[in-house]
Amino acid sequence: MDTVNAVEGRVVVVTGAGTGIGRETARAFAAEGARVLAVGRRPGPLAETASAHPGLIEPLVADVTGPDAPEAIVGAALARYGRLDVLVNNAGIVQSGQGLGGYHRAGVEALLATNLVAPVLLGQAALPALSESRGVVVNVSTAVGQRGWPSNAVYAASKAALETITRSWAVELAPRGIRVVAVAPGAIDTPIADHSGYGPEQRAATREWQLEHTPLGRIGRPEEVAWAITRLASPQASFVTGVVLSVDGGALVG
Ligand code: NAD
Repeated sequence: MDTVNAVEGRVVVVTGAGTGIGRETARAFAAEGARVLAVGRRPGPLAETASAHPGLIEPLVADVTGPDAPEAIVGAALARYGRLDVLVNNAGIVQSGQGLGGYHRAGVEALLATNLVAPVLLGQAALPALSESRGVVVNVSTAVGQRGWPSNAVYAASKAALETITRSWAVELAPRGIRVVAVAPGAIDTPIADHSGYGPEQRAATREWQLEHTPLGRIGRPEEVAWAITRLASPQASFVTGVVLSVDGGALVG
């Protein structure tokens, strides 16, 4: 195996690539020579992501919850590059924690549509191409997926389900040579709370709770998660499947 340029030339789809972990993941893959389809809803942030590696990162404006989105995203990758090697299901949303008694049907459904249904249907649409390339699926979970999150149970549950899907698909797709893994970030410095409905006090309280539960005592950086995603997707990780890798400053064990 060529362990120097093992990722060079491979085709990667990253959802939610306009900001945060998705942006850094798209750039980290491109920095290794991979060709990246950067999927998100807003052209501006996607263009900003692509500007770091103009020849290697191609923006695609799409809402992952749209009815035709899975086929459109995979179709765009195949039309542009003729193959698909890595699918990173990163797009995700969090909503301000109301706890039980504060949920509304539309909010619960939107959260599950983005964090759970979209990765499932995108994985399904990508299956033929990933079977051909003997590719990799990387799902982005959260440290609270294995622990729970008071007042944000549905978010934690959506990611716990994604981890169960990761383990199930790892077994189901192993005969096709497809690996399926997940990363579980802890508190990471991204704009995720900007669209969550959190007020300033709730944001501050959440940060305090996160720091209290992070033994390394700091907030992580998106590129620290991107590093883990690219390592798990690399051909050198060829015997790794079905795992959920914590990238959380010790939050899970703290
Ligand atoms: P972020 O808000 O910067 O990134 C999420 C991206 O997904 C955004 O660009 C957003 O516009 C996009 N997105 C949301 N809904 C979409 C849709 N329907 N279609 C297309 N794109 C959509 O936040 P982030 O922290 O980088 O989040 C990335 C992933 O990491 C999420 O799955 C999140 O749950 C997970 N995560 C984040 C943290 C953290 O502390 N930041 C911790 C654990 C897990």
